[in-house]
Amino acid sequence: MTKTISLLGATGSIGRQTLQVARELGLGVAALTAHRQVDLIEQQAREFHPELVVMTDAAAAGELRLRLSDLPIRVMTGEEGLLEAATLESADTVVTAVVGSVGLRPTLQAIEKKKRIALANKETLVCAGELVMAAARAHGAQILPVDSEHSAIFQSLQGCRDRSEVARLILTCSGGPFFGRSYEELEHMTPAHALKHPNWSMGAKITVDSATLMNKGLEVIEAMHLYDLPVEQVDVVIHRQSIVHSLVEYRDGAMIAQLGTPDMKLPIRYAFTWPHRAASPDRRLDLLTCGDLTFRAPDTEAFRCLKIARECAKTGGTACAIMNAANEAAVMAFLRGEIGFNDIARRVESALSRVEVKYEPSLADILEADRLARLAAVN
Ligand code: NAD
Ligand code: MG
Repeated sequence: MTKTISLLGATGSIGRQTLQVARELGLGVAALTAHRQVDLIEQQAREFHPELVVMTDAAAAGELRLRLSDLPIRVMTGEEGLLEAATLESADTVVTAVVGSVGLRPTLQAIEKKKRIALANKETLVCAGELVMAAARAHGAQILPVDSEHSAIFQSLQGCRDRSEVARLILTCSGGPFFGRSYEELEHMTPAHALKHPNWSMGAKITVDSATLMNKGLEVIEAMHLYDLPVEQVDVVIHRQSIVHSLVEYRDGAMIAQLGTPDMKLPIRYAFTWPHRAASPDRRLDLLTCGDLTFRAPDTEAFRCLKIARECAKTGGTACAIMNAANEAAVMAFLRGEIGFNDIARRVESALSRVEVKYEPSLADILEADRLARLAAVN
């Protein structure tokens, strides 16, 4: 069980819900990090008394240092600060709730210190899944999924003694705000449309990824690495209600699923309490009023990102790192109003055709692929 956390990305959607769970379970908080939201992190620091607070933005760190000068809290900045937060002696668990591949190096260093990783930051596993999982095995560090689908699979795998008995994983997908739209209709979707997710309230980047279905593509890759299965054994079904959070199908045909209300606090709590469960004050699923549960195949012609992600998973090497970084850059450009909705997939394809894939990549190769793909996606 987790006793003390270091929380990377404390001001975000997952970060704020993590602190709600920490409050509820009485967990200690050793470090908090954020990019530049000084007001919120100051409030969080005054409530949780961490020993370290990091603002990756230098000006924000300067401002926070002044504001917290009455408290015995160290304030750091930049990647150096993130790495310090990820490796603090006093934390047994590092929650990776930053957005994007910026989470990669802190996660690797936390693993080297044998921390339990409560992993929300899926981009880390997408760009460097082999390296991260190999490091976790080598150092005996546990990686516990926070992503709701992966937590559902993890919960459905409890009691499975032999992984070869798993026939396939089935990730459920809400379909996002544009479910049922044709490729031509998607051309005209704006950031305001994309930011209206039907079931979940999340950060801007993952909300756009949910609209393009890249989020599900990233999750297919995340699942392959977490559960050591080839992409052919990871399927996706559209389930509009977000009640069945994902399933495991075993070789005898049995399907085990986890159901619940769409609430990230359940997977966050489980990552902290595993192998136990804690009582929850949150609203429960009522089977009699939740309505019909429906399942459909995804439309990978209109939502090309899901297909691209599966192809990159098959290619291997740095292909997923290139795809992920190009997607991060393209989503930011879309949110700034510089490109259209379908241009996100086009930019990702263009980066994949221009940046060379390297096989059996080192960390340096992955970071370089990430850098080149970001450039390729915006030029
Ligand atoms: P968010 O945008 O709400 O929060 C991101 C956090 O990261 C903030 O604290 C921000 O200050 C920090 N941050 C942003 N840019 C940074 C940078 N360059 N350097 C350091 N810190 C930076 O995002 P979120 O929705 O909480 O998602 C966080 C991660 O969790 C993502 O990888 C996302 O895919 C994953 N995830 C989120 C949800 C969800 O429900 N929100 C569900 C599953 C997985
Ligand atoms: Mg998810």
